[in-house]
Amino acid sequence: MLDIKSRAILSKKSIFMKQFSKSMGIILLFILIISISCKKQKVNEDTKVWAWFSGSLASTQTDSASDEQLEHYFAKAKETGIDAIILEVHGGYPKADSADTADFVDYEAIDIINKTLPYAKKYGIELHAWIWTTNRCEKNLRAAHPEWYQVNAEGNSCLDIKLYNREHYRWLCPSRPEALEYLKNRVAELAKIDGIAGVHLDFIRYPDAILPYGLHKSRGVVQDKVYPLWDHCYCDVCRANFKTQTGIDPMTLTDPTENAEWMQYRWDAITKLTNALAEEIHRYGKVASAAVFASPAESRKLVRQDWTSFTELDIIFPMIYHKFYDAEDAWIETATREGVEEMTANKSKGYLCSGLFVGHVPADRIDEMITYAKKGGSKGICFFSLEGVNKTPNYWEKLKESIAKYRKQ
Ligand SMILES: [Zn+2]
Repeated sequence: MLDIKSRAILSKKSIFMKQFSKSMGIILLFILIISISCKKQKVNEDTKVWAWFSGSLASTQTDSASDEQLEHYFAKAKETGIDAIILEVHGGYPKADSADTADFVDYEAIDIINKTLPYAKKYGIELHAWIWTTNRCEKNLRAAHPEWYQVNAEGNSCLDIKLYNREHYRWLCPSRPEALEYLKNRVAELAKIDGIAGVHLDFIRYPDAILPYGLHKSRGVVQDKVYPLWDHCYCDVCRANFKTQTGIDPMTLTDPTENAEWMQYRWDAITKLTNALAEEIHRYGKVASAAVFASPAESRKLVRQDWTSFTELDIIFPMIYHKFYDAEDAWIETATREGVEEMTANKSKGYLCSGLFVGHVPADRIDEMITYAKKGGSKGICFFSLEGVNKTPNYWEKLKESIAKYRKQ
């Protein structure tokens, strides 16, 4: 017979064991639920579908209908099978002016993200914050630091001339350490927001030394070679750096494209800036990606963007908007392959996802264009843009069918 004390101990033990097994059961159930829901949410990166989306709809500055529009776009995107949305939060016309933004924090971008995140959460769509990077138009910055902006081969700052008659063509010099610090602060304040999956760097290049060929006529330019008006950056810092490096003042070069070191200097300046921004985004555990020109060779030539050297990025989205290059549809495959092969050769840490322009991809040929990208080695596919999809008759339906097929392959 057990005495009362022993019985009490045993009874305590059995209560403890009962409670223990009960809580273990709850924990196990919890783990099971989490693993099921994780499995459910896990997207196959090989067939992941992305879309760019303008953030102006979410701007608090625009009309009050934006909530309904966000609901519409996110609901349609989910129904169509889009996994991730790249939301433009800082474009060519930011509201910032010198009066209210002495600290340079991009409050408008943060507002746009905060307004959009609930829709992304509601529909289980990954949300990336898309910013224009070296092309920075905020008036407070232009007023405070005009010396950070690029200068062309005629000695004129891009703040003083309207390149291609575009008000928004105002470009920071990638060689200026202060410009890099500024951009690091801008990506950090977005990357740290809970719920944002990543930061997407667009316009991370020089202004077009040559416009994509299909645009020359409509923009009224003759660009059979590089002309000094469109050739940047000849600011004091870049000229001094290059002179120290080579003994040459680049301003004295008769054909700057013929000088391999001068081309390389400019490619390297953008590459270093991009890789540094990628590391900054990674500090917050977020995905670092960029939108780049269509093919590596064209990018280096047209906009001094050597993007296959952007080795620290997680994803690179070449904008293979082929008709702007006067190219055939099959060039989607060629351009994709060139990018993938160079990224592999350069030991890039990330992967390539081809970007398609809805206006160049007819609704009844979406499958064909996706197949070109896939054959070229694209991992996933990205569409520009959700607004383009929305305004093109039958596009949501056709895209849904094509995505379903893409996933089955
Ligand atoms: Zn410069």
